[in-house]
Amino acid sequence: MNASRDYAALVQRGLKLDLTRGKPSPRQLDLSDDMLKLPSSHRTADGLDARNYGDLQGLPELRELFGPLLQVPPAQLVVGGNASLAMMHDTIVHALLSKVPGAERRWVEEPEITFLCPVPGYDRHFTICQEFGIKMVPVPMTAEGPDMDVVERLVADDASVKGIWCVPKYSNPSGIVYGDETVRRLAAMPAAAPDFRIFWDNAYAVHHLTDTPAELADLLALCAEHGNADRAFVYGSTSKVTLAGAGVAFFGSSPANVAWFLGNTRKQSIGPDKLNQLRHVEFLRDADGVAAHMRKHAELIGPKFEVVDRVLAKELGDLATWTSPQGGYFISLDVPHAAEVVAKAKAAGIALTPAGATHPYGQDPDDRTIRIAPTYPDLEELEQAIAGLAVCVRLVAEEHA
Ligand code: PLP
Repeated sequence: MNASRDYAALVQRGLKLDLTRGKPSPRQLDLSDDMLKLPSSHRTADGLDARNYGDLQGLPELRELFGPLLQVPPAQLVVGGNASLAMMHDTIVHALLSKVPGAERRWVEEPEITFLCPVPGYDRHFTICQEFGIKMVPVPMTAEGPDMDVVERLVADDASVKGIWCVPKYSNPSGIVYGDETVRRLAAMPAAAPDFRIFWDNAYAVHHLTDTPAELADLLALCAEHGNADRAFVYGSTSKVTLAGAGVAFFGSSPANVAWFLGNTRKQSIGPDKLNQLRHVEFLRDADGVAAHMRKHAELIGPKFEVVDRVLAKELGDLATWTSPQGGYFISLDVPHAAEVVAKAKAAGIALTPAGATHPYGQDPDDRTIRIAPTYPDLEELEQAIAGLAVCVRLVAEEHA
């Protein structure tokens, strides 16, 4: 096959396809249409008026529902607004400006703050660090999560290491699920900084694509068991369960951290949007309700993951490697000269997340990883986009041959 000829034909087609952000498709959003007719009453089961101010920690019934799904005792779970990213951002701002439990001083007073960033990872985590001048150190991922030999050494030796970003289930973008031993080592490892924290972004906790959901070890419980009760900050949201722009987000941690977090947010807000929380309780009902709803998502997006896998296997064979996740929202494609491939795709009307975005400072030292977000386009567009991307990979390989 002649890649230059195929690429010329691709450009000729004048495609306009977008594989950049991991957004749910309109059909996925339609699954939650009935939620917009709720709540049926503004009173909760306990007679609380959800229209009013108050209840900073969020409705108890919603915390009861999501606590077990996020492996956080409901009493230690906080329900926020619609974005868990905002809660992660705010946690860091709070840590910079008000001493986290166990800290010697506020992070802003430290000469240097370092976060470990397993790569490939989620670009918006890295953007938060960059915004606040937090130094980022990449850590390679293995099939079981971050390389724990590297993590343990850095965390034990360097007191400037205050945090690590983790997407432990169906990771963004590789789809990897952290193994039990990785989670145990994260919970148990000695840390030079007394205020070292694990930012456990469990964004895809219930987002399975198969009938055999991945199990994740319970980080909060393990931290407590190993004498590091305050080590974990857990996050999650219903952005990709119900509505990406109008879901509910969660923060969970130890009692001391939750008190610290609420002490800070109390100054920001007199209470969250409890009508939306109540709407979620009525719509999703219980863990079975969440699982049934997530199966409907899997029916819509499972075939999209299969198309990507099939087209890449057919068109690229040994030229590239890619992940075949069992859940989540992304596929990670490794190719030689990723930046050139993304540029060629852009010129052919196929928008991809910039090469390097999966690494701190936008720099992938191997220029290798491309994140594919297959959920938003319809199946036909997706197939065209992936076939086009494969042409670009072949063309760049041919040019470098
Ligand atoms: N965390 C991860 C790992 C994500 O992939 C995303 C969205 O793609 C988010 C957080 C954003 O979550 P939220 O909508 O709750 O802010």
